[in-house]
Amino acid sequence: MRVVRTVAALREALAEAGAGGVGLVPTMGALHEGHLSLIRAARRDHEHIVVSIFVNPTQFNDAADLETYPRDETRDVELAASAGANLVFAPEIAEMYPEGFVTTVRVTGRITESLEGAMRGSAHFDGVATVVAKLLIAANPDSAYFGAKDAQQVVVVRRMVADLGIPTRIVSCPTSREEGGLARSSRNTRLSPAARLRALAIPSALREIEAALSSGEARVDVLRRRALTVLRAQHIEPEYLEIVDPDGLELLETVTRSALCVIAAQVENVRLIDNVLLVPAPAIDAER
Ligand code: AMP
Repeated sequence: MRVVRTVAALREALAEAGAGGVGLVPTMGALHEGHLSLIRAARRDHEHIVVSIFVNPTQFNDAADLETYPRDETRDVELAASAGANLVFAPEIAEMYPEGFVTTVRVTGRITESLEGAMRGSAHFDGVATVVAKLLIAANPDSAYFGAKDAQQVVVVRRMVADLGIPTRIVSCPTSREEGGLARSSRNTRLSPAARLRALAIPSALREIEAALSSGEARVDVLRRRALTVLRAQHIEPEYLEIVDPDGLELLETVTRSALCVIAAQVENVRLIDNVLLVPAPAIDAER
């Protein structure tokens, strides 16, 4: 395992790598099982796995969140190696944003302006798109791996890669969950035991919607109300709870084809997001 801190050193290390292809797993560190599942998925596809660890300041809308973001590089490097990574790219801020930096990659429209974009401000996805573009240019990977937990991020990254003609395959990996169903997140370490219990209402609300859908309820207003009841029982008022088209993120009125149910909520000042891809129950065959 090697740790490199500059784009030049990263390119040099990759130039020495033989055949087998390069997989990139972009992270902000504080690695957990969710990140490791991405690294393992990358390792199944490719020989050379780069894990980037960079707490990207431009995608934070909250200075306190950036300040308190958990960091432990030594532990991260060990964990990344244990999951099959060969190279960690851990640049300083000045390497990614050198003096005089004035370029932004901006993906426009509903996919960046709604949901997370509406809550965190337009700078959030500007920061994400810019840093991901820079990482893809630096590592030039065959594939890059992202978590379905950040569903909107995957939509934005796919759009950017298509629009800029970046020749990297974008792979979305399933959300890794703790026992009880809470989606793993680096921010979960900030939850008190009581908050962690309350936060379980978020995956429960998603399961409530799945169950209602599979019993034939397709109306979004009804599905949303049922999920809200589950959240409010734990005194959680979501920032948003929406059922949207998985590609363009338009709001839906009924779930007649696959749809994304997305939730963001603060629990004791810890901001959590989660989602599930909904697949409507097959229509009952009237002839049987
Ligand atoms: P982060 O370090 O939070 O920026 O996350 C780095 C990558 O790991 C992103 O693509 C996330 O979507 C992904 N990720 C974070 N949490 C999970 C999870 N629980 N399951 C799967 N992927 C995750």
